[in-house]
Formats: sequence, structure tokens, C-alpha cells
Amino acid sequence: MLKVDELSLGNEMTIAMEKIKTYFECHRCHIIDTKENWSMTSNKTICPECGKIEQFDIWPSSDVLDLIKHALEYVPASPYYGLVTSVFVCTAFELLLEKLLYIMALEDFWEEQVSVVIEKLIDAYQGRDRKLQLYTHVGWGRTFSEDVKSTGHKKFIEHWEKLVRIRNKSVHGDLELSAHIKPEHIETICIEGIDVFYKLCNIYTIDTWDYTYALEQSEHGSEAKKEFEKLQKWKDNVEGKNK
Ligand SMILES: [Zn+2]
Repeated sequence: MLKVDELSLGNEMTIAMEKIKTYFECHRCHIIDTKENWSMTSNKTICPECGKIEQFDIWPSSDVLDLIKHALEYVPASPYYGLVTSVFVCTAFELLLEKLLYIMALEDFWEEQVSVVIEKLIDAYQGRDRKLQLYTHVGWGRTFSEDVKSTGHKKFIEHWEKLVRIRNKSVHGDLELSAHIKPEHIETICIEGIDVFYKLCNIYTIDTWDYTYALEQSEHGSEAKKEFEKLQKWKDNVEGKNK
């Protein structure tokens, strides 16, 4: 958890990965938004969603950010460029998928009630393919691909699957395919992936009790309500499109 006086960490990360936006996750309502949308003064930060003076976490967490940072900064001239970057980025996305599944499984529950069960469930579904099966089970019956398309990134699934194929071949010593990976591919997929996962996390967060409670307690009730209605409309729209 970060406080205002620890913001320099956020700035360092922005410099290291200029192309990736900095996001904050509210510690109260758990909505993720870009740093620019948070209202910040020298002694307080106000969440753009619940309107509370709140503490926040940098999103994604450092385990994911480190993998993405290493992939974006890896030496392009290395003969192992494709191998290393595909392993880092695929691992980062699998971690993001796990975190998203956790949020999805919280629908209509308090975190304290179900966290242990959710963790066991996610552990039981190892690997990307199994986790994508779990996605349909814990979500609203929709597939991950359908949800991703609703975020506006129609090519993300194709890009991710291609990277997984390259990763799987190159970790077994076949570097032929990985030689085609260029820094611009890694940059594109990282930007797409972060945007996809932040939007999906928010869509499913608004169905959690933590979020509902945070909004009910909001000091800026009407503003927060407007934001909630906006998200709800977007969600309804997404559901309508996928019917
Ligand atoms: Zn908030």
C-alpha cells in the first residue's frame, strides 16, 4: 500500500517503461484508474471512483510490472531476445489472468468469506488453457475472448496465442520462430495486455461487495453514482453485444 510521500516509486516506473501508463488501484473500492485521473495534492489523494481520500496500490503489482519491464528493456540484439521476452510477457499475462479470476470469483461475496476457496480453485486450474476454462465457469458464462473483444482490442487474443506458441517452442530449444519477435511486437502486446486486463478487472470489480459497500459510503455519492452508472451501462452494453 502506498501513501502520498511514497509516490516517487510510481515516477521511477513511468520513466523505466515510458510506453506503459501508470495505474492506481483504490484500496477501498478496488477500481483501477490511470494516475492522471486521481486527484492529488501534497497531503491527499482522492479516488476518482468512490470519491474518498484513499490509499492506493500501483497496478499491476510489482511481480507483473517487473516481468513487463524486463521484457521491454531486454537487449534486442541478443539471440535469445524472442525466448526471454516471450517467457516474461506470457508469465506476466498468466499472473494478470489469475488476479482477474480472483476478482471474478468474488462476485456477491465478501473477500474474507471466500478467499481461501478461491485460491485453492485457482491453484487447481494450472496453465493458461485451464485458467481460460475456469474463466467461463466463474464469469457470466462468457469466454475470455468475448470479453477481450468488448475492451476494443480485437487482435489481443491472436497476439497472445502467437506469443504462447513461440514461447512453447523456444523453451524447448527451437529458436526459429522466436527470431521473428521484434521490440515493436513486445511493446504492442504489453500495451494491449495492460489495457485489456485493467478494463476487465474493473468490469468484474463492480460486482463485488467491497465495491458496493465503498460506493454506498461515498462522500461524493452523486459523482460516484454517475461513474457507477457509466460502468454499469458499459457492462450492459457488453453483455448485449455478446448475446
Ligand atoms: Zn475508490
